Amino acid sequence: MEDAKSNTAAVDAAAAATQAARDATEARDEAQRQYDEAKASGTEEEIAELKAKEQKARQKKLALYGAAGVLALLIMLFATHVICFHKWQDATCTVPETCSVCGRTRGEALGHEWKEATCTSPKTCDRCEETEGEALGHKVEKWETTKKATCTEKGQQEGTCARCGKKQTRETKMKDHSFGDWAVTKEASCTKEGVRTRVCQSCGKEETETIKKTDHTPGDWVVVQEPSVTSLGSVNAGVRTRSCTACGTELEREEFTIELTMGQKNAMAKAASYLSFQSFSYSGLVEQLEFEGFSHEDAVFAVDHCGADWNEQAALKAQSYLDFMSFSRQGLIDQLVFEGFSYEQAEYGVSAVGY
Ligand SMILES: [Zn+2]
Ligand SMILES: [Zn+2]
Ligand SMILES: [Zn+2]
Ligand SMILES: [Zn+2]
Ligand SMILES: [Zn+2]
Repeated sequence: MEDAKSNTAAVDAAAAATQAARDATEARDEAQRQYDEAKASGTEEEIAELKAKEQKARQKKLALYGAAGVLALLIMLFATHVICFHKWQDATCTVPETCSVCGRTRGEALGHEWKEATCTSPKTCDRCEETEGEALGHKVEKWETTKKATCTEKGQQEGTCARCGKKQTRETKMKDHSFGDWAVTKEASCTKEGVRTRVCQSCGKEETETIKKTDHTPGDWVVVQEPSVTSLGSVNAGVRTRSCTACGTELEREEFTIELTMGQKNAMAKAASYLSFQSFSYSGLVEQLEFEGFSHEDAVFAVDHCGADWNEQAALKAQSYLDFMSFSRQGLIDQLVFEGFSYEQAEYGVSAVGY
């Protein structure tokens, strides 16, 4: 602002100087005119006087034009800050003395005037109050317990700051509960979680925890579906499972197969060939195979797996008797029972052929 005012004053002065120069021009022109007139009609004295007057006016005009030019130049220099009447602003901690008009600086920034950190305030500049780092915090070298912590309440300690002498208090952590042994309140099984409990001996707080389920107890394999043996002696896999003996949950299920022994294979082939041209009761076929020399076990195995329908066998046998002999219904039943059929099979067979 100050600067703008002085500029305005300079502009005014330049305008005045210019006007004065213009006036001086007019004055010189008038002197010239008078001098020219005198040259034509005046005396020598008059001419000399007017010439001198004209020369003086010319000099004044030149001087005033010169002054106006200098002023104009000065205005230009101020406006572009080539010339500045600096207005210095005081240096701060971080900035040197600076001209508010042209921005030029002088000297160095002052640098902070640090005051050391204390227990409660960080390192601070006395001049600008800038801070650095953290407060030191109080430094208590020896704490005295004024209240002991329990498992339900925090404790308290007191001490004095070695640096500033201020009295300090602090809380101490609660103690852990002092639990007794776990007692099982509900046994775990392989299907249900159990529960156990323990009690703090100082405050009586009870804590419970679940007990993991126990493992299942696998029992023996149980056959759900026997492997089947075709009358030709090939084996189709069976199925067996294993369950927990405690809860009955099925734990494993798998297919399994059996290997036929040489005796079983041959007994089966023999049984099949008998059945292809003759009818038998279960026990009749077993006896026939034993008669052929097979062991009782192989014979039973072969008959178990021969695929025969014993009711149908009874019917075939009944028909074969009737083909060469006459029977009463009962006589035929008795004959079939004698052949090893059960009474029910015999009745079925007899009914099947028309009795
Ligand atoms: Zn300046
Ligand atoms: Zn500072
Ligand atoms: Zn302190
Ligand atoms: Zn407790
Ligand atoms: Zn179980």
